[in-house]
Amino acid sequence: MHLSNEQLLELPIYGLNKAQKQAFLASQLSFLDNYHLQHCALYQRLQQGCEQVSPLTVPLFKEFLLTSITAEDQHRLLTSSGTQGPTSKITLDSETAQLQSRILTKTLQHWLGKQRLPMLVIDAKATIQKKAGMSARAAGIQGMLFFGRDPHFALNDDMTLNIEVIEQFFEKYKDTPVFMFGFTFIVWQQFIQQLVQMEKRYSFTKGMLLHGGGWKKMQQSAVSNDVFKQQIAQSLGAISVHDYYGMVEQTGTIYIECEHGHLHAPVWSDITVVDAATAESLGNNQAGVILLNSVLPKSYPGHRLLTEDLGVIHGEDDCACGRLGKYFSVLGRLAKSQVRGCSDTFS
Ligand SMILES: [Zn+2]
Repeated sequence: MHLSNEQLLELPIYGLNKAQKQAFLASQLSFLDNYHLQHCALYQRLQQGCEQVSPLTVPLFKEFLLTSITAEDQHRLLTSSGTQGPTSKITLDSETAQLQSRILTKTLQHWLGKQRLPMLVIDAKATIQKKAGMSARAAGIQGMLFFGRDPHFALNDDMTLNIEVIEQFFEKYKDTPVFMFGFTFIVWQQFIQQLVQMEKRYSFTKGMLLHGGGWKKMQQSAVSNDVFKQQIAQSLGAISVHDYYGMVEQTGTIYIECEHGHLHAPVWSDITVVDAATAESLGNNQAGVILLNSVLPKSYPGHRLLTEDLGVIHGEDDCACGRLGKYFSVLGRLAKSQVRGCSDTFS
């Protein structure tokens, strides 16, 4: 049975068990397979000669404008960060854009609560004010501003610490839950490390730091998630710290780290880990390339996506935090795109 957008929104975020979720996903994804085969000529060409519908790789979205809507219906064009080289281009009609944003809201509210909390942005205001082309970082901050209130920016425009603003924020909100948001490496290098150097410590009583954007630079600096969290507890007090994972090609679907250090797949998406050489799916605790299925992409054929990230699934339905669904870790990036799906070349 195919679910409408309204029905999708009513699903419990982490509440379907394996059998329920697989049944729901199978029907929803096969609907999207057929929908995109009918509405995107390029997608149909890419799938020619494949025995079954195969996932698209991320580089395909950089090379081609893969869309299942007409130019008149295009409501927004999302682009990926891409400081170097080509960027992904994702076309959204108003229906898909709205669904993405409502699902993202529902997911974040599970973690943040429904009230908008006072927000400390671990970045500079200038990051979101640059006129020429919005970076993914700027878009990420813009998107998150919606979930907080009274935003304070912790960094000056030259990315140094703005200690006055941080002190103001702490004075004003030391007794209430707060929401902090930033990109992992910026949080670490421009914020936490600077606080340590200045010997500044705060004792927030409640709240949450949400951070994402990858661990590549953190790994280069040999900073583990445990060390990261310990230092944050020392510098900021009793706030909970949650990493997140997600990508522009499947905007709206976000994987948030639970209290036990695991990223969780929400009900609208599923993760599989596949062997880089054979593309066959691997079992739990085996490292491989992350394949993401999401039921949200309707205006473009991004519902089955082979990423360029390496990961490992730890289990399904049995994380100690009690949330159902698969839970996993991201291990890093593929050196370069080594995986070639069936649809990776035109036949
Ligand atoms: Zn968990």
